[in-house]
Amino acid sequence: NKQVIFKGYIDGVPQLADFELKVGKVKLQAPKGSGDFLVKNLFLSCDPYMRGRMRDYHDSYIHPFVPGQPIEGFGVAEVVDSDDSNFQPGDIVSGFTRWEDYSLIKKDSIQLRKIEPDGLPLSFHVGLLGMPGLTAYAGFFEVCSPKKGDCVFVSAASGAVGQLVGQLAKLHGCYVVGSAGTKQKVDILKSKLGFDEAFNYKEESDLNATLKRYFPKGIDIYFDNVGGDMLDAALCNMRIHGRIAVCGVISQNNISYPKGITNLWNLIPKRVNMKGFLQSDYMHLFPRFYKEVSNYYKQGKIVYIEDLKEGLENAPAAFVGLFSGHNLGKQVVRVMH
Ligand code: NDP
Repeated sequence: NKQVIFKGYIDGVPQLADFELKVGKVKLQAPKGSGDFLVKNLFLSCDPYMRGRMRDYHDSYIHPFVPGQPIEGFGVAEVVDSDDSNFQPGDIVSGFTRWEDYSLIKKDSIQLRKIEPDGLPLSFHVGLLGMPGLTAYAGFFEVCSPKKGDCVFVSAASGAVGQLVGQLAKLHGCYVVGSAGTKQKVDILKSKLGFDEAFNYKEESDLNATLKRYFPKGIDIYFDNVGGDMLDAALCNMRIHGRIAVCGVISQNNISYPKGITNLWNLIPKRVNMKGFLQSDYMHLFPRFYKEVSNYYKQGKIVYIEDLKEGLENAPAAFVGLFSGHNLGKQVVRVMH
């Protein structure tokens, strides 16, 4: 049983050295009478929020990783043995598992749900049809209150969340511009994901002027995945009664003392509604989201780009790469057995 172990709490940018690969033995059985079940992990998700769990900070919506223990995260797995009558060998499940070949899921810690096969890639359950997908769906429809014809700006637009936000906005009849960190990503936003315009923020010296160029009449909706300078520039370009969904602050995640936002005052004269949100508050929308988004995909109305790394041992590099934009689309790791 290979495991990726969390070594200890960190400051700054996550490094490969923060993880350790351990090889050990595992009993391929759930103990009788325990109510536990054993899964073979198939796909593991790399998500930016996991950086927050590498700090010794307990006042958050999720507890920190435990040093010396395998990394915990979203995944897709197959049940191989079960002492729980709700789960049978061969069942495919999705939810919280661990970065290891096999995981024993304890009766009192089950956060996995059964997946009914529907012909779509299993990895989608940690991307398009999982947590990032719900984030895009709930964030856009519930937090941004979109209207046809709205001018929408999405940052980290080619990522797990951003690519779906942009496509949902297009389906809703909006004008959509995305930002991303490489030429390749910018090209894909326009050629494959249907964004009206896209730009490489790393090549822009004055983000305020850049946004004015793409939004001469201003932004109605800013779906913010990055925070920092981009948020500051977007604040100056919001239209009256605009909406900002504060989804993530990945530009600030690795900085101990983030730079202040100086343009917040724009919220007042423009009566902009800026709201932070957590996808987990919108679990009640999950059935609707799942049905709508999987149908859009099956009908060819949307696409979804995944960055699939092979092998559990490559999970740390895949995760670390999120913070320098190495991933092209949703970062997933396929566990090889
Ligand atoms: P992505 O797939 O978008 O991967 C992260 C991307 O962020 C990178 O590829 C990179 O793209 C960009 N990035 C990295 N560092 C920086 C930086 N310093 N400045 C600007 N961009 C940077 O991740 P997700 O789609 O999974 O997550 C997107 C955001 O949504 C994150 O902030 C995450 O924390 C947040 N989130 C929030 C949730 C909620 O419930 N509120 C739930 C899920 C995610 P590029 O090349 O374009 O720079």
